[in-house]
Amino acid sequence: HDDMVLSIKLVFYGDNKRLLISRDITQLERIETMRRDFVANVSHELRTPLTVVNGFVENLQDMPDLSHDKIQRALQLMAEQTRRMDHLVSDLLTLSRLESDQSPLKIESVDMYSLLSEVSLDGEMLSGGRHQHSMDATGPAKLSGNRDELRSAFSNLVSNAVRYTPDGGTISLRWYSRAGQPVFSVRDSGIGIEAQHIPRLTERFYRVDRSRSRETGGTGLGLAIVKHIALRHQAKLEVCSEEGRGSTFSLVFPEKRIV
Ligand code: ADP
Repeated sequence: HDDMVLSIKLVFYGDNKRLLISRDITQLERIETMRRDFVANVSHELRTPLTVVNGFVENLQDMPDLSHDKIQRALQLMAEQTRRMDHLVSDLLTLSRLESDQSPLKIESVDMYSLLSEVSLDGEMLSGGRHQHSMDATGPAKLSGNRDELRSAFSNLVSNAVRYTPDGGTISLRWYSRAGQPVFSVRDSGIGIEAQHIPRLTERFYRVDRSRSRETGGTGLGLAIVKHIALRHQAKLEVCSEEGRGSTFSLVFPEKRIV
């Protein structure tokens, strides 16, 4: 194989006897590369806001006569950067908790209608009146799952819809049954996603447009979190999108999750 990595060891023993031990370490090598990329990405993501904050601190130190307005503006920009770092660290902690085998899913009976109204309200608050929101809920009233995790997955999808939809667009939430399976979907009339990117969206730090993601406060971890929560609930994440027209992200739950 072209992409196979072997570890080879030659062991001498006895009188001129040799043993060749070869081990396929392709998988280990791949995990190591992923780990290295991850650390590099996290460092880079933290360094950018830190550089901005450092720059402001130095300026404030060097220019003691700065006007009150300019100082206020600098403090405001520094606060934005620290919020960004805080958001990144909290997404990293969420992801590591979800990935850890030591945190099994705490199942409860979740009242979907109260959860959906919270998620929908969060979306409207985030929009600040810039989009039209709608909600159509006909799906089952109760689902067996973890409320906090479901809320986090749904909110991530809604927040993406808001962040990738220009002002004046629409965001439609649905909770319905499709061939007996409960589905939560978020449709937006936003910028959409070119087909080639869709398979990679749930990779950590994968972004179609890095600067747009950053400008809107993205960490690049939202869909990785959604994917893990979906996996823990044996749900499937479906993405349907057309560039320039909008996207629909759906979480399809197995029938057995209906209470
Ligand atoms: P981010 O914090 O960058 O939004 P996510 O993991 O939530 O990270 O999403 C990964 C990428 O998928 C985004 O950077 C964006 O390019 C794309 N994306 C996600 N949701 C949408 C959407 N509703 N419309 C268009 N692009 C989206």
